[in-house]
Amino acid sequence: MANFITEPEREIPVSGECDVLVCGGGIAGISSALAAARNGAKVILIEREFMLGGLATLGLVTIYLPLCDGEGTQVSFGIADELLRLSIARGVIEDKYPGPWLEGGSREERTKRRFEVQYNPNIFACDAEKLLVDSGVEIIYGTVAAAAVVEDGRITSVVVENKSGRSAISAKAVVDCTGDADICQLSGEETALFGKGNVLAAWYYRYSPEYGVKLKMHGFADVVGDDKKSAAQQLIPRRFKGVDAKMISEMEIISHQHALADAMKLRETDGSTIPVIFPTIPQLRMTRKLVGAAIPTDQPTHKFEETSIGLYSDWRKSGPVYELPYGSLYGNRVKNLITAGRNISVSDELWDVTRVIPVCAVSGEAAGTAAAMASATGESFSELDVKALQKRLSDAGVKLHCSEVGLANKA
Ligand SMILES: Cc1cc2nc3c(=O)[nH]c(=O)nc-3n(C[C@H](O)[C@H](O)[C@H](O)COP(=O)(O)OP(=O)(O)OC[C@H]3O[C@@H](n4cnc5c(N)ncnc54)[C@H](O)[C@@H]3O)c2cc1C
Repeated sequence: MANFITEPEREIPVSGECDVLVCGGGIAGISSALAAARNGAKVILIEREFMLGGLATLGLVTIYLPLCDGEGTQVSFGIADELLRLSIARGVIEDKYPGPWLEGGSREERTKRRFEVQYNPNIFACDAEKLLVDSGVEIIYGTVAAAAVVEDGRITSVVVENKSGRSAISAKAVVDCTGDADICQLSGEETALFGKGNVLAAWYYRYSPEYGVKLKMHGFADVVGDDKKSAAQQLIPRRFKGVDAKMISEMEIISHQHALADAMKLRETDGSTIPVIFPTIPQLRMTRKLVGAAIPTDQPTHKFEETSIGLYSDWRKSGPVYELPYGSLYGNRVKNLITAGRNISVSDELWDVTRVIPVCAVSGEAAGTAAAMASATGESFSELDVKALQKRLSDAGVKLHCSEVGLANKA
């Protein structure tokens, strides 16, 4: 078998033209598309699956981690706050109801209970979809970004594959929200893989008459700083990088069998338990990321960042708060490409903090806003007027610096 073939050159149709092309419709893509549309851009969002939300819906990761610092202060605002409220607008899962946050609780009450919720993935996906459609975003489902056409350091179009065949979508600015930095990779931007790889996860929903429909979190993430506990919580002693099709497929087969075996085991003690739904996309946390103009780390916390585009906390522990620098969203090579979500540029240590839902919304809102601005002026992301971007974000309700939420910045 030959190792390579040469793909014949051929003409393909241009199937779309827009100011901002958002690739990937997870939390980051939803937030980016919404922000870009609200800032006046003509937006197309392409999504490989047939529903929005990515890991947060199809991946059954239905816990919207905290918008607060665990010490009684909300730090993430703007679309991160809007989407959390949207996710529970039609009802909350009882034991995850953040009463003190929604009903004006005291600081003491808010310290006891973090500002996080659990939601229904189907309702959230459909309501997010309606929000985007009503905002003028064109969603094209079942569409995979397969290549990027780059001329003079700019992406002129993204080549896509879908039911209609292979075609190109032309765009003035592109937002990579694929979670795996696919567009960075396809366009020649610098990327890096998560050194350790992912542990196996097999989260699924089950039903029993006694408990109703419940999320079963089968297989946990790494336990930071405790390798022994971490190893004990892993389903199998193996890790997955998540950017090789055959390896992802192998991981999925193992994950399906683990979820099924777990559900069947529960049946031995409760004969009426049934599995309701398994995830329909791979539960991968950290795969490939941008190596961008800035690579923030997890130390120190509360650090003042002049170019901050939003605040976020550490879901794992109370206290730390970070200001996300604008430079973590764009790279050094491709002028009109920006990223959001779990593939932004951060250190491996900070990645476990920035990959979660609220932070994906924070980076998404900033990337979409910046993309609308850059597409209007033709500027590259590195040249963009950061103060003007910050003004737009502030006007939209985003808090940029610790001092804006009553927390002191540290040197
Ligand atoms: C097991 C597990 C547990 C987790 N637990 C939590 C938790 O409790 N709370 C929390 O807040 N976070 C949690 N996370 C993290 C969080 O869910 C995700 O990191 C976050 O939702 C990622 O959002 P995103 O938009 O960046 O990426 P994704 O959700 O991965 O979205 C990317 C989207 O792009 C699409 N796509 C990918 N490639 C292409 C392409 N080439 N062309 C077109 N479309 C493409 C995908 O179909 C997908 O819809 C967990 C993650 C995992 C795996």
